[in-house]
Amino acid sequence: MKKILITGGAGFIGSHVVRLFVKKYPQYQIFNLDALTYAGNLENIVDIEAAPNYTFIKGDIVDAPFIDQLFAEHQFDGVLHLAAESHVDRSITDPLCFVKTNVIGTMNLLNAAKATWQGDYEGKRFYHISTDEVYGSLGAEGLFTETTAYDPNSPYSASKASSDHFVRAYGETYGLPYVLTNCSNNYGPFHFPEKLIPLFINNIIQNKPLPVYGNGKYTRDWLFVEDHAVAIDLVFHEGVNHDTYNIGGFNEWQNIDLVKLLCKIMDAKLGRAAGTSEQSISYVKDRPGHDLRYAIDASKINKELGWKPSVTFEQGLERTVNWYLENQTWLNNITSGEYATYYEKQYN
Ligand code: NAD
Repeated sequence: MKKILITGGAGFIGSHVVRLFVKKYPQYQIFNLDALTYAGNLENIVDIEAAPNYTFIKGDIVDAPFIDQLFAEHQFDGVLHLAAESHVDRSITDPLCFVKTNVIGTMNLLNAAKATWQGDYEGKRFYHISTDEVYGSLGAEGLFTETTAYDPNSPYSASKASSDHFVRAYGETYGLPYVLTNCSNNYGPFHFPEKLIPLFINNIIQNKPLPVYGNGKYTRDWLFVEDHAVAIDLVFHEGVNHDTYNIGGFNEWQNIDLVKLLCKIMDAKLGRAAGTSEQSISYVKDRPGHDLRYAIDASKINKELGWKPSVTFEQGLERTVNWYLENQTWLNNITSGEYATYYEKQYN
């Protein structure tokens, strides 16, 4: 039986990856390591918690002795590393926290994997799940490819760029077997409502203002989270050792157009007159260092591994909106408490 460690499995993307692996690979023992920060939520994976091939471990990747001990005890064959501080706005107010988790935490995992595997790399793999934000910002034209030079602009993207570099360096220096992916913005069920799409769904439900940064012209590529999880499964099993793949939705949207589309879908779902929710759009002070446009060329993973998104944006958004409307308790549980204080500070 293979032992697989997934970090950050109580978070948004991690919970989808854990669910997919636990269900699809009964022959693997899946260990989900998560510190349960504000972004980690065991309610995200309640449906698989009793599965015989699943174990949850609460712990912090920044704690090196704990990580060393964990690897020594379990002798993992593979690591899928998703644990991270992931919110750009929070990285602007507390950059050091991002260095600790995203850089030092990744280093601790690399060191523990290296010490455990001791050069015997047969059947072993370290997979770092990263972001397209490491590439910086694009003008109106062009796409990020796997060879685009890193040019991060926020403390978040700088910390992810740094951890990507360390993963590659461990591959080059020590021969550690790794794969790395850089993905565009995800959306879907279990997304913490500080991020654009769930924030706006929640605010529309609650008749709150819809805060759009700057002039709303910022452009992002969007991918349904379950499609990302499928791509991660594919790269983990079939990706070429020491290689990088970009993952994206072939789906660019300006923020303002996306918000208007969401308003339209939500008005119909909530039985409100067309145009009602759009009236709540309010333009707010821009985020410092805001990247104008991200767009991903995902043709390599498409050509080499045969992956492409399975749903259109309209289908994915429909499923996402339905999920939030059907899971109001999940939403209410996490929008009370610490998040309520954060929201007040950020937007009021
Ligand atoms: P998230 O914030 O929803 O979840 C992060 C998880 O990591 C949480 O469960 C949290 O408790 C855990 N965690 C944080 N610090 C930890 C620590 N020190 N030790 C152990 N666990 C810790 O993030 P997400 O959106 O699911 O992103 C997952 C990964 O994918 C991140 O590495 C992120 O950079 C990357 N990524 C995200 C997106 C996106 O659109 N969300 C896109 C591309 C790449």
